[in-house]
Amino acid sequence: MVRRTPELLEIHRLLGERLGPRHWWPAKSPFEVAAGAVLTQAVAWRNVEAAIARLEAAGLMSAQAISAADPEGLAELVRPAGYYRAKARKLQALASHIVEGYGGRIEAMAARPLDELRPELLDIYGVGPETADAIILYALGLPSFVVDAYTFRVFGRLGHWPEVFARPRYEEVRAFFQSRLPADAALYNEFHAQIDRVGHALCLKSRPVCGECPLAEVCRREGSSAPRTDVRPASKPRPGNKRPARKAGRGGPGGGFRPPTWEEKLGGGGKSIKKFSF
Ligand code: SF4
Repeated sequence: MVRRTPELLEIHRLLGERLGPRHWWPAKSPFEVAAGAVLTQAVAWRNVEAAIARLEAAGLMSAQAISAADPEGLAELVRPAGYYRAKARKLQALASHIVEGYGGRIEAMAARPLDELRPELLDIYGVGPETADAIILYALGLPSFVVDAYTFRVFGRLGHWPEVFARPRYEEVRAFFQSRLPADAALYNEFHAQIDRVGHALCLKSRPVCGECPLAEVCRREGSSAPRTDVRPASKPRPGNKRPARKAGRGGPGGGFRPPTWEEKLGGGGKSIKKFSF
């Protein structure tokens, strides 16, 4: 039987019924979201949490403080997040931009038109499309859909990609969602968090647990020849839904192992996502 490809809002509804609210992105402030988005590249979220805790303890969880920090000292503080020298440079580049352009208030960025803000963020060292969209959506509350490797995998298996493009790229996938969804930041926030949850816990790379997936009835299982339906993956610590139960696992507020970001796949600036709730 050929399964029909469900509409995006139907997928969102199915996920919401089973998963409930995701409360992304866990953080104390919009700037912490942005810092987490930079720090989460290719590491477990628990490691990002450790780095954030060290920044907080050192009084550096602000754009002003990070922009003025000693680079070596900053790198040492974010060491738990891995690639710590590069990530320290990226954090300082973002922080300096916020200080110089917005008086140190990342919230002030939200007043910029989205079609000007996104290219502006992409011009900052270390900010690629995934990180830029994470900052725009989860730190600033503006509607810019976040795409990650989970998005590619889940929707590829659902059967969307062959109907749209053979080898989707980040901007194409983002446009795919944004052209089919209302420009609603709350919707984008929740939908991306849902996709992350399914991609992390169920739609595994080699052994998807389709029997427990909210999307099983509408999924074509494209590229997944023999999905297992009888085994739940070993639970890993994941970034929790809200503080103080911060999440664990690779990648960010989303949890567990984090697949390569688009920046990593494309060999670009490197950064990744994760989530937070205000
Ligand atoms: S039904 Fe299986 S292949 Fe389809 S999205 Fe769910 S886990 Fe992935």
